[in-house]
Amino acid sequence: MNSDEYKSYHAGDSDALEYHLKLFLFTTIIYGCFVAYVNGWLSLAVMAVISSVCVTRWLIAFHELFHLRRADDLDFITRLQPIPFSPFGLGYHEYQEIHKGHHVNTASADDPDAFHIRGGFFRAFFGAVTQHEQAFVRYIARHGLSRELLVMTLIRLSLFVGLLLIAPAAFLAWWLVLRVTYIINDFVFFHVVHYRGGETGTFSLPLPSWLMHPFVVIYGFDVVYATMYHDTHHRHSRVAARHLPSVAVLEYAK
Ligand SMILES: [Zn+2]
Ligand SMILES: [Zn+2]
Repeated sequence: MNSDEYKSYHAGDSDALEYHLKLFLFTTIIYGCFVAYVNGWLSLAVMAVISSVCVTRWLIAFHELFHLRRADDLDFITRLQPIPFSPFGLGYHEYQEIHKGHHVNTASADDPDAFHIRGGFFRAFFGAVTQHEQAFVRYIARHGLSRELLVMTLIRLSLFVGLLLIAPAAFLAWWLVLRVTYIINDFVFFHVVHYRGGETGTFSLPLPSWLMHPFVVIYGFDVVYATMYHDTHHRHSRVAARHLPSVAVLEYAK
């Protein structure tokens, strides 16, 4: 739903450029952490903190861009999605298709994200833990394996295996940080905001200010607002994440 009512809050070309550049920036820092950790320039703790914060910020930039740019409009690296969360992962185009389905059939059995939303805590948590592999298998079962997806999958698989072979112990520590961060974010961004008290739907996630302020400092406005005002995002998916609180207030005042 995107009425013109809140058009002044819609994300535009400059926002798309910002999210696109942020994907590059966070991807570079995440890879930089791996290189620095392999060479002993960063401790495990520092590598884990920086990588984890960047994965969380990267995730929301990735999501915000889904609503603004088609895969064909983006560069190869962004379409590839080179962060090795899994040996078998999907790229930008596939995740954008999945996300479109999530907005159309939100939290219903037909939602392609249903496996990590519905069925209670444990089922959804298992879905979040296995998100990459399940999304990969489910996407191919539904849409088939195109030549492009096959090529991109092989590139991602080679990247994963190559990095693992370069420095096995360091890679596994770094990968665990990436993966655990993804699982936590995924669980909050799908199950927590779409399942409450046994009911599926789309819910806001109010945070007390003592929690919200440090989160904003660490993760930025986009991450915090896109999560807290997820219901507003579903009603107005073109509204930029940073404007979601303003739109929520305007809606409430009606
Ligand atoms: Zn959602
Ligand atoms: Zn969305």
